[in-house]
Amino acid sequence: MITGKNYVGNQLSAKGNKIFTTFNPVLNTKNSWTHTEASKEEINEAVTLASKAYEEFKNISGKDKAAFLNLIADELLALDNHLIKTYCLETGLPEGRAQGERSRTVFQLRSFAELVAEGSWVEATIDTPIPDRTPASKPDLRKMNIPIGPVVVFGASNFPLAYSTAGGDTAAALAAGCPVIVKSHPMHAGTSELVASAMVKAIKKLGMPNGVFSHLNSSGIAVGQQLVKHPKVKAVGFTGSIRGGRALLDLAAQRNEPIPVFAEMGSVNPVVILPEALQSRNAELAKTYANSITLGTGQFCTNPGLIFGLKSKALDQFIEHLGREIQAKESTVMLHPNILEAYEASKSKALSQPKTTVVTHTKDKMPANYAQQAILTVQGADFLENHSLHQEVFGPFSLIVQCESLRELESIIANLEGQLTGTLIANSTEINQYQTLISALQNRVGRLIYNGVPTGVEVCPSMVHGGPYPASTDSRFTAVGIHSIKRWVRPFSYQDWPNQRLPDELKNENPLGISRLINGEQSTRKI
Ligand code: NAP
Repeated sequence: MITGKNYVGNQLSAKGNKIFTTFNPVLNTKNSWTHTEASKEEINEAVTLASKAYEEFKNISGKDKAAFLNLIADELLALDNHLIKTYCLETGLPEGRAQGERSRTVFQLRSFAELVAEGSWVEATIDTPIPDRTPASKPDLRKMNIPIGPVVVFGASNFPLAYSTAGGDTAAALAAGCPVIVKSHPMHAGTSELVASAMVKAIKKLGMPNGVFSHLNSSGIAVGQQLVKHPKVKAVGFTGSIRGGRALLDLAAQRNEPIPVFAEMGSVNPVVILPEALQSRNAELAKTYANSITLGTGQFCTNPGLIFGLKSKALDQFIEHLGREIQAKESTVMLHPNILEAYEASKSKALSQPKTTVVTHTKDKMPANYAQQAILTVQGADFLENHSLHQEVFGPFSLIVQCESLRELESIIANLEGQLTGTLIANSTEINQYQTLISALQNRVGRLIYNGVPTGVEVCPSMVHGGPYPASTDSRFTAVGIHSIKRWVRPFSYQDWPNQRLPDELKNENPLGISRLINGEQSTRKI
């Protein structure tokens, strides 16, 4: 049942006086349930509880954390159709997508459970002492990753399950041993509360410390800001726009104790089509890219927003084909009127830029909240000069940039902002001639894709979902896959610490049987 209340620790609470509702974009009407925004007092209570819970939770064994994560996954599945239906009512997304995202969320939770149950992820590193070393003796030093403290997670608008309440950031932080306070996304507050209820059930069943998880409603930015400023919060996970992520990064930097903000933000995901590939796969590429651009009404951070080619007859044909394919696509609904409004505003800005040409812009009469897809084109030199054309248009939109020469293309790529992905479409015969271009692209992105599309982010350990700023605020980390746990830990050393007082991960006997780096050698041996 959706109560509309916050979870302050395990307790339902609604002390605030700001009430809001979610919206059904398909029916163009408000949903029937209401939510109460968290008050300042509730925010403070949630963080205080999280800080207390940290003292216990940080020492909980990997096996117990694994049981907790697996039970969250089970409880999530037990919500069954109620969750799926609410998700659809709050997003306009189809049931298949909701089910797929739930499976992904469950998979993520179970992947982290497996990781922490095994235990080697803490990167235990041991250097045994050399008492008779001259001129000075060497101490016994033992290092491992420990949880950083209470973490605030901002859910993503476009992934109500996989990057929200019990999504990747939350699963990774709990796996690391950090309590989590979720600031629910106002557009899917009901879905978020249902997931929170499943998490609280798991907490109660396993006797996890009260405050290891809280769930706070918000109708605007104030709740998130107060959370980021709270002195007991030690890190932030954010998925959303560059504007939002940057605001939170600045806020965190202004604190007396600055804290890390791991923000995954917008991206235009450049795609470069090399001449031979363009020549041999012209129509096929247009079809593939029309599908990728319009997938999920273009509401993916990996949407291909920029397509580059060298000026030629083949590029003209590709532009024509892509225009036709996009025109033939049925328009689809966006997540929320606000997202549609943002799409229309950023699209209009792009359309109003001098020297751009409209390839296609569907203008059929359509139901409320549906997006009109658009493709524009521009010359390379004009693109290079006009920075506003480099910005993300979050929706079914792409800009084709026609370059005069390889040199111009290389210079454009080198001048792009940081991106989540870069894609190279090439024939195997031509790739060797473009090493400088590929190297320039690598400098700007977190993931290079060969002959594919950027949409679709596989959840696995080798995935990097991140990239140079502004794709993310810290390009050294990924937000997807088990290695995302590293955002929520800090390395910590014990010097000459008594063996029995060390955590199991660092004890001589290696009771957990984990892999450790002992005097430079990776092994599971005892000392
Ligand atoms: P958004 O406007 O940035 O909102 C995201 C969340 O941040 C919301 O809960 C919002 O709160 C909060 N927020 C925004 N500005 C804030 C501020 N100044 N201070 C405190 N909180 C603030 O993003 P969105 O429109 O929901 O999502 C679309 C964007 O997300 C796109 O740019 C897309 O590319 C990006 N995205 C990135 C990834 C990735 O992994 N890189 C994944 C998905 C989406 P309120 O709603 O309460 O205002």
